[in-house]
Amino acid sequence: MDTRKLRRKAELQLKGSAKQKAEVVRALSAEAAGHLIHELQTHQIELELQNEALRLSQEELAIARDDLMKLYDFAPVGYITLDLKNTIVKSNICFANMLGMPRGGMINSRLESFVHSDSQDALYFGIKAVKSQLEHQTTEVCFVGSDNVGTDNRVSLWGRIDSEPVLNDAGTLERINLCITNISDQHNAQLLLEHQAFYDTLTDLPNRQLFLDRFEQYLLKVNRSSLYGALLYIDLDNFKIANDTFGHSAGDDILRHVGMVLEHQTRASDTAARFGGDEFLVLLTELSGDASIAAHEAESVANKICAQLTEGFEIDNQPFQIEISVGIALFSKGNETVDDIIRHADIAMYQNKNKLKSPNKTNDPITIYSGRKHNDINDRLNAYRTLRSALNNGEFFIHYQPQVDSNNNVYGAECLLRWGRAHNDVVPPSDFIPILEDGPLIIDVGEWVLREACQKLVQWQSRGNGFSDLTLSVNISAMQVSQKIFPDRIKTILEETGANPNRLVLEITENMPIRSIERTITTMRKLKNLGLSFAIDDFGTGYSSLAYIKSLPIDILKIDRSFVRDVDKDENNQLFVNLFLRMAKRFSLKIIFEGMETEAEYRMLLSCGSGHYQGYYFSKPLSASDFENYVSSTFDHNVSLKH
Ligand code: C2E
Ligand code: MG
Ligand code: MG
Repeated sequence: MDTRKLRRKAELQLKGSAKQKAEVVRALSAEAAGHLIHELQTHQIELELQNEALRLSQEELAIARDDLMKLYDFAPVGYITLDLKNTIVKSNICFANMLGMPRGGMINSRLESFVHSDSQDALYFGIKAVKSQLEHQTTEVCFVGSDNVGTDNRVSLWGRIDSEPVLNDAGTLERINLCITNISDQHNAQLLLEHQAFYDTLTDLPNRQLFLDRFEQYLLKVNRSSLYGALLYIDLDNFKIANDTFGHSAGDDILRHVGMVLEHQTRASDTAARFGGDEFLVLLTELSGDASIAAHEAESVANKICAQLTEGFEIDNQPFQIEISVGIALFSKGNETVDDIIRHADIAMYQNKNKLKSPNKTNDPITIYSGRKHNDINDRLNAYRTLRSALNNGEFFIHYQPQVDSNNNVYGAECLLRWGRAHNDVVPPSDFIPILEDGPLIIDVGEWVLREACQKLVQWQSRGNGFSDLTLSVNISAMQVSQKIFPDRIKTILEETGANPNRLVLEITENMPIRSIERTITTMRKLKNLGLSFAIDDFGTGYSSLAYIKSLPIDILKIDRSFVRDVDKDENNQLFVNLFLRMAKRFSLKIIFEGMETEAEYRMLLSCGSGHYQGYYFSKPLSASDFENYVSSTFDHNVSLKH
């Protein structure tokens, strides 16, 4: 019963006698007191329950606060709070760890003291934006641990800062909370990507693109000054040989070595770059304003580079001599473009290669571009490039010139290379072989000829009827022989085609510049062991005829056309022919007379002794099918004569 009802009951009762009233009041008071006590007890229980709940929530709050602190400290990101002077007033442990410092050491320090000088501006403008706009901001900066500043092991990391303003009730800025995420990995990956886009991965030198870009920039600068600049075009002459002989990792070592030398021999203002393959460019800037002094300066850098590059280098513990050609193009303000200057340096380099090949060669690997004089070189350079695409486009083919024995039997042919540019426009080898020999292209073309010859031998092998015994002679150039892997290359071609090595003859010309006679002998022996034979071509035209006969393991002498021409009338030639025949007999060599054109020459040679013949008298070089018809017809003819 509530108090209001009790009071109503009491008032009704009070209408009775005083005694009654007193009793009623007493009874009522006891009842009310009981109620009140009960009410109080209820309140007390409620209070106790509330107290308990409060205590529990305080405990939960404390646990939550501890958890929060742990989260704050050990979150994978750094948290710091700055006051309005950018002083760190609070930091989590993670941020202290990021910088490799105790947390205490950071509190009350200014944030900028942990930021790299290159990132100070980014930090300044980032914080300034939070303060002025009172909004979230994001900045990326590089941090350093201030304890270690100036030492090698200072911590350095890239962090993304998310800054959040903390406002009071009046809406004014009180402090700034910063969340710092370590983005070093992303940043470094990005840097690596950028680096790879502009630097050569092998040598770490700028690549073609970066070089051209810097060159363009520099050319603009040169056009506003009176100074000269120079471009060095450096090409490794024997890189392909080294690569083929010692393998690609040795080739990589050579390129890295060249990269290091160029890096060391050039000033910070110069740029050395790998331009592709085994070609390097060096841009020398701010040379003298006087052309001849500038040329001298460029040459002296080139000399230093050459001296260091050609100094001993070892591959597999064996000494290896890097051979280079350098072309220099000087330039000053004018109308020349980057392309022009590179072409000029390339032409000069190319001319240097030819200089090294000429009989009265010098050892100077450097040539300076000098205008008009180089126009023919330019043509030759273009021709070399055209020939490279000719090989790729299948524009080469072979003519076969019959070789006949003293009984008029065709026993084989010489493979003579032809270049068919367009229909009916056939270029003879004398016009393009010297150009192929300007670079490693002669090796590729030479291998193509060998493969074609081997395939032909295999076709004839199964054809019978005078074809299976035919031999083929292939002309080999000096660069092919000087490759250490040449025997292996031939072995591979023989294996891949299935040709019989006994049917293959290699012709090396007597005028071939042989760098190392010992190496050539070793190469020839290896090939002879495989079953191949060797012929000395154009015999009698060089200075080493006798020396070669004595030292090289050869099987055939091919007497040069100049001794065959008019042999029927020319007594000197008759003398020589007799001498050659005696020599061949003495050394057990087969002899072939080349370039025999007339019956009179043939009769005279026959009368001198027994030999083999190749010349227009029997046949000009023929296409494959014409040669096959020729063989068939002479075979049928000889067979019918025998019957
Ligand atoms: P070579 O090896 O001495 O080839 C003989 C050259 O004499 C050929 O000229 C041939 O057509 C020519 N000849 C043959 N008989 C007569 C004749 O009775 N009278 C005249 N006037 N000439 C005759 P070709 O085909 O122009 O080849 C010239 C040279 O090119 C070759 O001389 C050889 O040194 C080189 N050569 C040809 N093919 C190759 C090849 O595949 N590789 C290499 N490295 N050199 C090759
Ligand atoms: Mg020949
Ligand atoms: Mg010849």
